[in-house]
Amino acid sequence: MRLDKLLANMGFGTRKTVKTVLKSKEVTVNGTIEKEGKTQVDPDKDVIVVSGEAVHYQEFVYFMMHKPQGVVSATTDNLHETVIDLLQPQDQVLDPFPVGRLDKDTEGLLLLTNDGTLAHNLLSPKKHVDKCYEAIIEGLVNEQDIQAFKDGITLNDGFICQSAQLEIVSTDSEKKQTLIKVTIHEGKFHQVKRMFEAVGKSVSYLKRLSMGKLQLDETVKIGKYRPLTKEELESLI
Ligand code: URA
Repeated sequence: MRLDKLLANMGFGTRKTVKTVLKSKEVTVNGTIEKEGKTQVDPDKDVIVVSGEAVHYQEFVYFMMHKPQGVVSATTDNLHETVIDLLQPQDQVLDPFPVGRLDKDTEGLLLLTNDGTLAHNLLSPKKHVDKCYEAIIEGLVNEQDIQAFKDGITLNDGFICQSAQLEIVSTDSEKKQTLIKVTIHEGKFHQVKRMFEAVGKSVSYLKRLSMGKLQLDETVKIGKYRPLTKEELESLI
């Protein structure tokens, strides 16, 4: 790839400003000063150094975010803060995007990447990647609801969900609320909320705990993120 493209991708400015960096003789390739942006380099083989620091080229980035409520799962939005706004500027350089959407008022696990193939595989309806959520339900969830989820809930648009595993974690009879965990196998718009609507109940709090084999790391504070570990990434591929 072109040297200027590689440097721009690594956050050394736009292709234009990278020209200035190159002109200042701050860049070496395999020990030789390189001033030409169009020079072809192999990021896997060539040793590229900028101002004495080796540049480690990465084509793809993968971040696990603990999405907070109140931000939208989009790359841009005219009104609201987006999950991309929560990334440090240097982590925005390679244009990561959220893999699927969590509602504005949903928190929990959100994967951000610029790896379109991985995103496609995780979101493909054919792959049925499991998503597990914790939720507070307004109303007392009962055995009938568990069975209805198992049998396949019909959403208000006629879509029949695959069998979902609903588990009661605890019940607050006074407040008439139930803490549940549910695992679903599709990713329809507002799916969990609509599944509970179908059994006459509503969701007042929703948090995603896992997506496929990727589990939310609870040490990642709400609104924060970290790169996936090698093992986590491998578990998704
Ligand atoms: N289901 C919902 O209803 N909302 C989400 O954000 C995710 C799943």
